[in-house]
Amino acid sequence: MKIHFLGTCAGTEPFPDRRHACTVIEINDSLYWLDAGEGCSITGHLMGLDLLKIKRILISHPHIDHTGGLANLLWTIQKLSQRKKLTPNSIDLYTPLHDLTDAVFSFLKNAADGFKKNFEINVHEAEDGILFDDGSLKVSAFHNEHIIDKSKREWISYSFLIEAENKKIVYSGDLKAYSELDALIGEHCDALIIETGHFGIDDVHEYLKNKSVDRVFFSHNGREILNFQKESKEKVELYFEGRGSICEDKMTVEL
Ligand SMILES: [Zn+2]
Repeated sequence: MKIHFLGTCAGTEPFPDRRHACTVIEINDSLYWLDAGEGCSITGHLMGLDLLKIKRILISHPHIDHTGGLANLLWTIQKLSQRKKLTPNSIDLYTPLHDLTDAVFSFLKNAADGFKKNFEINVHEAEDGILFDDGSLKVSAFHNEHIIDKSKREWISYSFLIEAENKKIVYSGDLKAYSELDALIGEHCDALIIETGHFGIDDVHEYLKNKSVDRVFFSHNGREILNFQKESKEKVELYFEGRGSICEDKMTVEL
């Protein structure tokens, strides 16, 4: 399986060569899209990913640095399918909030001439527990307290535990505290894709001291890392000795 990092910037002001959050898992000739920050469709397409092979899209929480590219992604899938005269995969879309995806479809209806959904999109409201297990990937959602707005829904922010090929991958989404990942990491995880928009490298190192995690991918990077990239890389190397990476846009790793 491959992990593609399309957008590795937190919800900061724009940074050169950095787009907002989007990570893609490629397995068994299908793509699983984790969050959809602005520009994710363009980056993915230009990296050579076939957007018609997207099987599922998972949105961790409604903030715009995770959702700003969703409308454009759906539009681009339709555009490419029309150009190639192919029908795209039907897509299962997991949203933390129906209002969010309803707004995206309403926007597309008004903003994209001919957006007729020539492909099937099945929308599911995410909740704690197993979201799906399709033989390639098993994904479970765990709520966190990055956003609490009980007027909307009990929980609208999630982290994901992804299991495939006997490996465990933890995708943090955005968090209130790193301890919210305890249950996902459990006794061991093979890869941790962790946000550093609200915390620093020292915090991650401290949190992981007594945990068994093979590889750590710093994604969703904030100013503290992006303004000091050389120093940050040195610190990650010192702490994690080849097991840690500060992700960059368009980076792909094999797992
Ligand atoms: Zn974010």
